[in-house]
Amino acid sequence: MAKSRFEYVRNYELPDPLMPGTFIVVRIDGRGFHKFSDTHAFEKPNDKRALDLMDKAAKTVLDEYKDVIMAFGESDEYSFLLKRNTKLYNRRRSKISSSIVSLFTSAYVFHWLSYFPNNPLRYPPSFDSRVIVYPGEKEVRDYFAWRQADTHINNLYNTAFWALVKDGQSTTQANKTLQGTDSKDKNEILFSKYGINYNNLPEQYRKGSICVRRPTIVIDDQQQQQQIEESTTAGVSNISIDDPAVGSVEDDSASQTRINGVIRKEKKVKKVKPYEGIDGEIVVLHEDIIKDGFWKERPWLLQ
Ligand code: ATP
Ligand code: ATP
Ligand code: MG
Ligand code: MG
Ligand code: MG
Ligand code: MG
Repeated sequence: MAKSRFEYVRNYELPDPLMPGTFIVVRIDGRGFHKFSDTHAFEKPNDKRALDLMDKAAKTVLDEYKDVIMAFGESDEYSFLLKRNTKLYNRRRSKISSSIVSLFTSAYVFHWLSYFPNNPLRYPPSFDSRVIVYPGEKEVRDYFAWRQADTHINNLYNTAFWALVKDGQSTTQANKTLQGTDSKDKNEILFSKYGINYNNLPEQYRKGSICVRRPTIVIDDQQQQQQIEESTTAGVSNISIDDPAVGSVEDDSASQTRINGVIRKEKKVKKVKPYEGIDGEIVVLHEDIIKDGFWKERPWLLQ
């Protein structure tokens, strides 16, 4: 087909590839959510419905984009980590960034009424989006540690701030009361004046939300046989490997053989890489991601 004489304008679209082999993080943040949360009567300092809705929208993104392997959210923001060697949209920055924030936003609106049945949307919310690339594991871990530390600092401040306001201080007064205080002082104010033990507040508020696919254990045939024998010896005749945590695919050719009176149930197990697990159910966790534990349990995130 002949090109039109207008087509030259296409050359003004410049390529925007992200460096190969780097970790891509997309962070989205609600635009003007200070006002949005007021208009929609969010509870302060933490409206659980709003946090759950954010988590739901993030899960939608993980559901749709298999290369998004983890997400961390707090307040009106969410960060999405893509697997290091993703080829999504040929690693084009604006395609990746815009597709994720667009899906997140439409999911947020789509599910709004399930979380706020009595507060219809008064106007369409929007989110901004940016992309950051990190060269290595250390920077990725430090990135998420930074966001979770931020969650803690903000939540402690907001909890103390709203306790003072609910106690009758004006917002200006409450700000002033908290000026120059450190964490210890804020904990002390909460505990001695309001009987609030900060550490007993819900983890969702203190630690934010992590979306990941359930860890899948890859069991090879030998390990599996061993497990079957162990459980048979222990009196369990029928072990099940149907647990969705096991990201393996069974076929229908399960067979039983009797050897020395022990029933050996054999099932063929196809090995799958964890993040490609067929069921790979997405879970939302509220736990520490600053220490090693979370990452050690999920080595594929940083591969
Ligand atoms: P910007 O457009 O620059 O991001 P913003 O008004 O969205 O401005 P943020 O720094 O992103 O400012 O802060 C988001 C604000 O939204 C919080 O300070 C808080 O007031 C409110 N907010 C977000 N989520 C919740 C929630 N779950 N419960 C209560 N308030 C919330
Ligand atoms: P990509 O994700 O790459 O954009 P796509 O399926 O969205 O893929 P497009 O080139 O953007 O492909 O084309 C959009 C398609 O959507 C059209 O080819 C057409 O089939 C359909 N479509 C869009 N708007 C209309 C409309 N108003 N009426 C009928 N069909 C439409
Ligand atoms: Mg912002
Ligand atoms: Mg915001
Ligand atoms: Mg924010
Ligand atoms: Mg299209």
